[in-house]
Amino acid sequence: MTNQGLAWKGPILDNHFHLNRNGRFLDAAKDFKNAGGTSVILVHCPDFSAPPTTKQGHRDSYQDTINMAESVRKELGLGVRVVLGPHPAAFAHQFIKWVEEDGKAGKEKAMENYRDSIDEAVKFYHEGQAHAIGEVGRPHWEVSDEIWDLSNELLLDTMKLAANEGFALQLHVEGELESTYLDMAKMASKAGLSKDRLVRHYSPPNVDSTITQGLTPSVLIGKGALETLLETADNCSHGFLLETDYMDDLRRPGAVLGPKTVPKRTQQLVAAGIDEDLMWRAHVDLPNKLYGQE
Ligand SMILES: [Zn+2]
Repeated sequence: MTNQGLAWKGPILDNHFHLNRNGRFLDAAKDFKNAGGTSVILVHCPDFSAPPTTKQGHRDSYQDTINMAESVRKELGLGVRVVLGPHPAAFAHQFIKWVEEDGKAGKEKAMENYRDSIDEAVKFYHEGQAHAIGEVGRPHWEVSDEIWDLSNELLLDTMKLAANEGFALQLHVEGELESTYLDMAKMASKAGLSKDRLVRHYSPPNVDSTITQGLTPSVLIGKGALETLLETADNCSHGFLLETDYMDDLRRPGAVLGPKTVPKRTQQLVAAGIDEDLMWRAHVDLPNKLYGQE
């Protein structure tokens, strides 16, 4: 595309993007590129109908995401960094099923499977094939106290690991504005993890530092998010990221933002007068700090 007349001519990164071999896969990434996108953070998406239950199973499914990332780099020349981890929804469903089947032993099994999936993701991180761990967190819908407490316990363990091993976490959490940030900030302190290493995926557009508590918000940049983001951007703590949470699911087209959205919104934000320094942070500096250079 020609970028003549565009408000923003710099790099454009989508911080939370999924791809699926049975979805549009390379065509979706091509749409992103053709709209002006230069780099994606490719977040692992488990097969929710049959998430892995063995170490080797985790490894194989992560390897497939790594392979997709390599195809996008090679075929399209886009920058791709990879985030691997156990999705909190997959964990919760597995937990419910296994506790129904096996009671206490089922609970143990679910926790062990979670830890295995983290361990395998961390191995890829140390091999340089993954660049952060995620999406981890807790279910975004109402669950029993038992699942809620257990999700928190496992998340705290994962934060401690992140502090020790040096990786950033992409968080999938419930949708509350202030209370969720406060909770996550408290947990980070408890874990000894620097708060800016917590990236809140699917973040609401209010990025005011009094709300975000020093976490890194990754704003879901639908049309309705522009106004609030523009209003609060200057008061953010150290920047924010932009994302679509593109799902690449042919059964649910239009259920999520499309792959061209971050490039389009970036142009709109710059045209509306957002501080360009914040755009450099969103598209270059923060991703490099969180995930390492491309
Ligand atoms: Zn996601």
